[in-house]
Amino acid sequence: MTILSSLGRASRSAPLASKLLLLGTLSGGSLVAYSDSNKKEEEQQKQKQKKKVVVLGTGWAGISFLKDLDISSYHVQVVSPQNYFAFTPLLPSVTCGTVEARSIVESVRNITKKKNGEIELWEADCVKIDPTNNKVHCQPVFKDDPEASQEFSLEYDYLIVAVGAQVNTFGTPGVLENCHFLKEVEDAQRIRRGVIDCFEKALLPGLTEEQRRTKLHFVIVGGGPTGVEFAAELHDFIEEDITKIYPSVKELVKITLIQSGDHILNSFDERISSFAEQKFLRDGIDVLMGMRVMSVSDKDISVKIKSSGEVVSLPHGLILWSTGVGTRPVISDLMEQVGQGGRRVLATNEWLQVKGCENVYAVGDCASIAQRKIMGDIANIFKAADVDNSGTLTEEELQDVVDDINVRYPQVELYLKSKHVRSIRDLLTDSEGNPLKEVDIKAFESALSGVDSQMKSLPATAQVAAQQGSYLAKCFNKMEHCKEHPEGPKRFRTGGHHQFRPFQYKHFGQFAPLGGDQAAAELPGDWVSAGRSTQWLWYSVYASKQVSWRTRALVVSDWTRRYIFGRDSSRI
Ligand code: FAD
Ligand code: MG
Repeated sequence: MTILSSLGRASRSAPLASKLLLLGTLSGGSLVAYSDSNKKEEEQQKQKQKKKVVVLGTGWAGISFLKDLDISSYHVQVVSPQNYFAFTPLLPSVTCGTVEARSIVESVRNITKKKNGEIELWEADCVKIDPTNNKVHCQPVFKDDPEASQEFSLEYDYLIVAVGAQVNTFGTPGVLENCHFLKEVEDAQRIRRGVIDCFEKALLPGLTEEQRRTKLHFVIVGGGPTGVEFAAELHDFIEEDITKIYPSVKELVKITLIQSGDHILNSFDERISSFAEQKFLRDGIDVLMGMRVMSVSDKDISVKIKSSGEVVSLPHGLILWSTGVGTRPVISDLMEQVGQGGRRVLATNEWLQVKGCENVYAVGDCASIAQRKIMGDIANIFKAADVDNSGTLTEEELQDVVDDINVRYPQVELYLKSKHVRSIRDLLTDSEGNPLKEVDIKAFESALSGVDSQMKSLPATAQVAAQQGSYLAKCFNKMEHCKEHPEGPKRFRTGGHHQFRPFQYKHFGQFAPLGGDQAAAELPGDWVSAGRSTQWLWYSVYASKQVSWRTRALVVSDWTRRYIFGRDSSRI
């Protein structure tokens, strides 16, 4: 009202020219406003027509999905309790200050801003997935602010579950209360403070030597890559930095690594396991193998020697528990709902769709692909290949299906490799090794009978998670095109073709940093290397894998700082 009346007053008192100008401006303005509101409506309409995609989690799988997704045909909402992505392979380096925590994280908003701010991010935990009504229920992380902690729900057309996994204590008493874990950035920061605390406590007056020894006994449970890398980092930190600052207690420090199996790093080539064991022996790290942790208290860790059944108790100053991964409650609940109760991870098909719900996909550590067995489909494959219904397959008939078989059943490639042959054709031979001209169902079955023995579930690694996220985004980008022009292999049971090629994992090798500027690596083609040059390879690979130029620059400068000035031991 006040604006209108003052405009009226202004027009009455102004000369004619100014009146015309005012009129022009007003009508021009309303035209602009009209076209603006039109644009907004169009935009809203467009947004409504887009399929709704909800992504749960901003770890390796979630971020690689978001980075590769073409959002022009999707309305994307992301739910994650962390508004950042953490480069987990460098978490062990954060525990001892080799690399700073902020150097390995990148804000999700920074990553998604490249998509014109059209991706919405909600800092919340998904507490329930409701696949019947296509909804997720979420709880914001700000629990102590009543306004910012109200639960909300989101509807989806497609749901991408990428919530990762949580620590697994195997129900061992006292672990949750008395051990450190290394899953999140905050865990690494807590460990860093914990290690320094142990040294500061051990220096205080009034302690006996035995008490000082206990404070400086660092125990690591789990001889996998994380446990081994932490032991190596801790050893370097103590050797290179701490002993110079705390010389009076340096003789009392001890690191013990407890492993239930017979070797550490048992997912690696045995040459790497034994290289690591020997290096740790030289470094004075106590590696106890064949031991099972029974319970943990604030003072002791009780372990059973598997061979003798004897239970011994070890006093400790700090324990890192690093023994595999467990299921998040939201995933257990979803598994119950879709008839997968009792499993550890969600089962998906080879296209990463959760079994039992078509529009829900699961990627990364929270899922695993339930690979289809070739022997379960063998009669259908034969029938589909036998185009002339003769009861045998000719050379040409076989040729027409081998590529589809290779793509549909990735275990075939591994089997051919293990048999040192190049094609399925090379398996179809007579007793003298000559290729069969015609193949009946019996010969076909017996040639492929060993293939399923090569089925392996993929490891819970960043490599797998990132490749799955990226694969899924690419499928989403060509969803409409592939509906009309399917690019996948033949459907042997029902006819036609699959919409997409199934997910196929490419292994680029794995590293194990062992401290003292030495690392071990297992690279494709059975190539194993260990030593200082491998550490340089590790530096270059991990620098190149950083999610942004900012984190790359920070990580490289942290490594340089550590070389020049050493690690910082302030307890902040
Ligand atoms: P994550 O990366 O764990 O991400 C899960 C995301 O989901 C997070 O953003 C989390 O906040 C979010 N989330 C959790 N709960 C909810 C919820 N209820 N609702 C919504 N969001 C939720 N792998 C390698 O390949 N190489 C290595 O060198 C390597 N080193 C590692 C070192 C350490 C110390 C650790 C812990 C892991 C290492 N890994 C490594 C394994 C790798 O980190 C995991 O396999 C990878 O993080 C799995 O990716 P993800 O996306 O499935 O889960
Ligand atoms: Mg035939």
